[in-house]
Amino acid sequence: MLKIENLTHVYPNGTRALDNVSLEVPAGMFGLLGPNGAGKSTLMRTIATLQVPTSGAIRFDEIDVLAQPDALRRTLGYLPQDFGVYPRVSAYDMLNHLAVLKGYSDGRERKEAVDALLNQVNLWAVRNKAIAGFSGGMRQRFGIAQALIGQPRLLIVDEPTAGLDPEESNRFLNLLSEVAEDIVVILSTHIVQDISNLCQRTAIIAGGRIVQVGAPQDLIRDM
Ligand code: ADP
Ligand code: ADP
Repeated sequence: MLKIENLTHVYPNGTRALDNVSLEVPAGMFGLLGPNGAGKSTLMRTIATLQVPTSGAIRFDEIDVLAQPDALRRTLGYLPQDFGVYPRVSAYDMLNHLAVLKGYSDGRERKEAVDALLNQVNLWAVRNKAIAGFSGGMRQRFGIAQALIGQPRLLIVDEPTAGLDPEESNRFLNLLSEVAEDIVVILSTHIVQDISNLCQRTAIIAGGRIVQVGAPQDLIRDM
């Protein structure tokens, strides 16, 4: 369970990007829906410990996130908005390299983990091809694989369907919901369709404030 309490973020230029945000996010897929500029990326980066908020508290299970950012990082998977590393190395080599950085020192264990991830995101057949040549959908599926290295219990996915066509988006979100069964997944998006089917719960954010939380069907009916 992720618990956010009275989180406020004011940028140095005075922009109040988050204004007293409180949220409880249980295991499963949670949608964060809001227009551009609503504060989604600020919230995601703050939870991912890339930004320190002006005030408030974040807890993930037993971890006090602001006091113990390293503890959170060990159990966090993150797919940032505009995930932009498309190197000329193969998907296999890149994942293998990232797994080394994540602490998989045993070669055999690492190979098992990397093979399993490539299968999970449907990139096994193209594992030896350069990521630079992948389609948008393939890149985002690679993005999920890299986020899942080390079996995180919290997965943050920021606007992952930007640039995907509706069919690619659907396939990507279905994949995400499969990996989301036992862990906490937060998916941010400005597209209503992204959250309607697969998220058990959704929050609507606007102007840095949470305006509604509930089952997607109920929220969308009210909109
Ligand atoms: P979203 O992800 O929903 O589009 P953001 O979190 O990116 O929203 O932005 C929320 C608000 O904060 C916007 O008004 C944006 O212009 C502003 N903002 C974002 N980053 C910065 C920054 N580094 N400095 C100042 N203002 C920022
Ligand atoms: P988003 O798509 O999440 O709203 P943007 O495209 O607005 O993000 O912002 C891209 C980058 O520029 C981010 O790193 C964000 O922090 C920064 N940024 C956004 N708005 C501002 C702002 N008003 N002043 C300074 N930096 C900003």
